[in-house]
Amino acid sequence: MSSTPFEQLLENARHNEQVMSKLQALEMALISAGDFPQLLGLLLDDIQSEFALDSVHLHWVDPQGEVQALLHGGGLDLDDYPRLHFIHSPFPLTHLLNPGLRTRLSPFTPGLHRDWLPDDGMGSLALLPLVRQGHLLGCLVLGSRDPQRFDPDLSTDFLDRLAAIAGVCLENVYHHEQIKRLGLTDALTGVHNRRYFDQRLDEEVLRAQRQGSCLGGLFLDIDFFKRINDTWGHPAGDAVLQEVARRVKNMLRITDSLARYGGEEFAVLLAQTDLEQAARVAERIRAAVAAGPVCLGGGLDIPVTLSIGASCLHGLLPQETPGEAARRLLHEADSALYRAKENGRNQVMCHTAEPAGAPDHG
Ligand code: GH3
Ligand code: MG
Ligand code: MG
Repeated sequence: MSSTPFEQLLENARHNEQVMSKLQALEMALISAGDFPQLLGLLLDDIQSEFALDSVHLHWVDPQGEVQALLHGGGLDLDDYPRLHFIHSPFPLTHLLNPGLRTRLSPFTPGLHRDWLPDDGMGSLALLPLVRQGHLLGCLVLGSRDPQRFDPDLSTDFLDRLAAIAGVCLENVYHHEQIKRLGLTDALTGVHNRRYFDQRLDEEVLRAQRQGSCLGGLFLDIDFFKRINDTWGHPAGDAVLQEVARRVKNMLRITDSLARYGGEEFAVLLAQTDLEQAARVAERIRAAVAAGPVCLGGGLDIPVTLSIGASCLHGLLPQETPGEAARRLLHEADSALYRAKENGRNQVMCHTAEPAGAPDHG
């Protein structure tokens, strides 16, 4: 039975109302997204499911790799986001989009669109420019197998609005994460600061408890650092700190956490690492730092060594809270470091468990 023009009009109105209410819910969620995982989940997954699309890809303009570094630093594994892509320049996009950087609807043309929508069987696509203050931040590409779905003659009002909101949210979350990261980074060495480490320690203790795995902890302290400052000056001391941080970081895995804990002290968390493995990592770090002097140019070569204390958490003690276990791990690594200093420096010492009831000579 064919519908009358009036029924058709009513049907269109109902459909538009449904789309509008879905769009509003999505916009609210986008505006409240506080971090990258939430935002990317909304842009890549929720848009696809809510609007029954066959594919959604996000292309992010990232000339200096800053966005990728920030995502990575925030603990995001980019392999988990195969539909997120980074491009070095906005230009390949600008000529695809409509003049004035407005949404473009188009039949899928492999030669033109395959790089932007690399899925099989696409019929049409919508290119939504994400723009902030006249700059193209990226492009959200919505794909459908239906060649009519994104007919160029259709109105783009809804999609223009979605693109505008997504652009603002993308930039906001980016700035928010950048500020968060700055607050958790040591300005001199670029490694994490103590605030980050303390948060991370609590998370890692809980994770180790959940997984029944060991958590290794190291405390590192530069030997006779005061002497370096006194002999070569404070700026040279700063440069030594930077170089030591770089050498230590190079010896760690991406899942490990390194922080500058205090003046010339660093702390490391080694996920899924027992004491023997932690001692091996510590020895590699010690050797890498002691391997050669820090060369500051002009013949200024400063020899530097580290002392390291290693410890490991194997689950919680009876009645112990995760917070107490975290403090115990640090305390044990710190005591081992103290023994490494006492024993002559430039060495690694492991925490050795006292037999129960043994007198404390500490
Ligand atoms: P030890 O082998 O026992 O660790 O001796 P040390 O000289 O390394 O230890 P001490 O704690 O006596 O001295 C640490 C020095 O680190 C004192 C402090 O002025 C210096 N320091 C702390 N933070 C910084 C910094 O940001 N830059 C520089 N250049 N020096 C710093
Ligand atoms: Mg110290
Ligand atoms: Mg020291």
